[in-house]
Amino acid sequence: MSSDCLFCGLYAEGEHVRKADGFAAVKDINPRAETHLLVIPERHVETFRDVGEFPDDEAKRMLLFVAETARQLGLEDYRVVVNVGPGGGQTIFHLHWHILGGQMQGLPG
Ligand code: AMP
Ligand code: ZN
Repeated sequence: MSSDCLFCGLYAEGEHVRKADGFAAVKDINPRAETHLLVIPERHVETFRDVGEFPDDEAKRMLLFVAETARQLGLEDYRVVVNVGPGGGQTIFHLHWHILGGQMQGLPG
């Protein structure tokens, strides 16, 4: 946990749509689609570039959590987006996954 990280704080205390197993799903504060959630891992890894910092089983569980969150929301067709680095639209440097369902208003970030 990094004390000055917004998403470490959101993982610990936010309003979670779902939380299990070291992962939390929250509604994006600035939704770009009818359904726009963020999946935030408890582990503080700055960017997808460093995804290798996750133990293998945790990396797999993270992907399953993304898929299961979408399924529980009743989404069948949707987008999963990860912005990587400032040039890739990343604004918060704690790895997170966007789940976007329904009508979209442009890419997040
Ligand atoms: P990114 O640009 O990929 O780093 O995504 C960061 C996302 O976090 C943006 O879509 C923001 O709207 C969202 N966001 C920022 N602060 C909060 C917050 N307190 N709660 C929920 N979502 C947030
Ligand atoms: Zn963090």
